[in-house]
Amino acid sequence: MISSKEAITLEENYGAHNYHPLPVVLAKGRGVYVWDPEGNQYFDFLSAYSAVNQGHCHPRIIGALKDQADTLTLTSRAFYNNRLGEFEKYVTELFGFDKVLPMNTGAEAVETAIKICRKWGYEVKGISPNKAKIAVCSNNFHGRTTTIISFSNNPEANTNFGPYTPGFLKVEYNNLEQLELVLQDDSVAGFLVEPIQGEAGVMVPDDDYIEKAKALCELNNVLFIADEIQTGIARTGSLLAVCGDCNCKQKCERQPSTYIKPDILVLGKALSGGVYPVSAVLADKEVMNVIKPGQHGSTFGGNPLAARVAVEALKVVQDEDLMSNAKQLGKLFRDEMNNLKQECDLIKEVRGKGLLNAIEINDSPESSTAWNICVRLKENGLLAKPTHGNIIRFAPPLVMTREQLDECVDIIKKTVLEF
Ligand code: PLP
Repeated sequence: MISSKEAITLEENYGAHNYHPLPVVLAKGRGVYVWDPEGNQYFDFLSAYSAVNQGHCHPRIIGALKDQADTLTLTSRAFYNNRLGEFEKYVTELFGFDKVLPMNTGAEAVETAIKICRKWGYEVKGISPNKAKIAVCSNNFHGRTTTIISFSNNPEANTNFGPYTPGFLKVEYNNLEQLELVLQDDSVAGFLVEPIQGEAGVMVPDDDYIEKAKALCELNNVLFIADEIQTGIARTGSLLAVCGDCNCKQKCERQPSTYIKPDILVLGKALSGGVYPVSAVLADKEVMNVIKPGQHGSTFGGNPLAARVAVEALKVVQDEDLMSNAKQLGKLFRDEMNNLKQECDLIKEVRGKGLLNAIEINDSPESSTAWNICVRLKENGLLAKPTHGNIIRFAPPLVMTREQLDECVDIIKKTVLEF
């Protein structure tokens, strides 16, 4: 096996420099742990940006992958395959929608949602040709394609990538007055929102924001599009962040008021447990049926390997009740971080929900303090990464035990107090 040093040199020499990784090379993963080529063990507190909710190399998901890989991997959608329908039935029943459109990456699924929304705007809402708009939030992160970065306000993401795709209106996140105003424009077809803004630094809106935003959309005949690529699949302590305290469809039916059902739901990342790129867009018939044969697709979208892996990944989430674990451990984690905040001035704020959390470091976003803390955390056996300079996101796999969490809290406390 090549050494960490050799692996880094190869990436530096032959790879595009579109990322700035922490100086650690990962060669193996299992559950909440990853190892470098030299055999050093780390707690993974990023989970591949919340894709590995079920833990690294979950044996059931890997088993499904191996079995399907030996049987049939890709057919394209020129033909039916015997796994896609099973996935479609499972995922629509689980999340309570009529239809699903499978894709591969998160950005592709967001693009798909935008296309469906615009088409619905013209063909159902009756918006004049080429005039449809979609309301989006400031500081959003929905991916890296040309259209998506067109409505980003992060200069790193969009500088010198213009000309930008028109048709997006920005409103402040967590600002219902602005949203109400914008939605009154008859040419607005949709409102695209993250229930918690992960990349922006785990920004948690007011408790009633999502519910009220959905109500405003309903009032104005605008589609409410929830991007749950990072927040979904148990990460925030419920199956979806829009589920509130409700963990499954059955319970939602009993307590319908707790589930703010989006008109379009966008999923990715942990939909496959991080084993294979699988994303999906869910909607009811009145919305999804605007898409007809030939109007959208992907060679790999809905392939049998993806379908099989995704069903198993979702079953693991349910069978292991990762929702409850994320909820309980998340609360403990925030309590501990708040205790730490009392002890040292370095922590400005602790925020999050379930096991999607962050601490904001009391220093400017341009400072290297958060980066240096993450490097020291790595040396102490825990991997996390700063976002927006002075924010450290903590998002471990949801299969973590209480004992492991306690160990991690000790590492974080010890490390932060060293600064
Ligand atoms: N939407 C959200 C909320 C995300 O967090 C991400 C990725 O971090 C994406 C979309 C893009 O997903 P992908 O990187 O798979 O294209």
